[in-house]
Amino acid sequence: MKPTLLISGCLSGQPVRYDGTARTLLQDSLTRWQAEGRVIAFCPETAAGLPTPRPPAEIIHGRDGAAVLDGSGRVCEAGGRDVSAPFLVGAYQALDLARRHGCRFALLMDGSPSCGSSFIYDGQFTGTRHAGQGVTAALLRRNGIAVYAPIQFSCLEAVMG
Ligand code: SF4
Repeated sequence: MKPTLLISGCLSGQPVRYDGTARTLLQDSLTRWQAEGRVIAFCPETAAGLPTPRPPAEIIHGRDGAAVLDGSGRVCEAGGRDVSAPFLVGAYQALDLARRHGCRFALLMDGSPSCGSSFIYDGQFTGTRHAGQGVTAALLRRNGIAVYAPIQFSCLEAVMG
């Protein structure tokens, strides 16, 4: 049986980003997987009850999603509100959904404090990137699900078939 993919809602066309936009990924293979019923779209932040639009949030003090999972890092909005709890709720919802659908692969929006897989922002709200992953990406990886960024799409095609 061919694999099923978990994908960030915003990459699948849902306008769920903090600023109310989508980042629709246009790829022929993705369109085919969707037609074959092999794509599960999910936004951990909105699933956890955060509104759209919402203030931007970052993992503070240059940490990453693994630190948030371990309780040594926090996710805060630009105004300082701690939103670690809903970010964790959304991450565990994503893991549960991936497990129920047997997803071994996820395609997530890079740079996000939830979905980032190769980089995130450094917690200073200055647009400065650093290597790291978001909370959902970290949890999925910790549970054996391979996470791909859009820039790695050709690698994903090789494993999805
Ligand atoms: Fe997209 Fe993930 Fe942010 Fe939701 S949490 S808007 S799916 S990057």
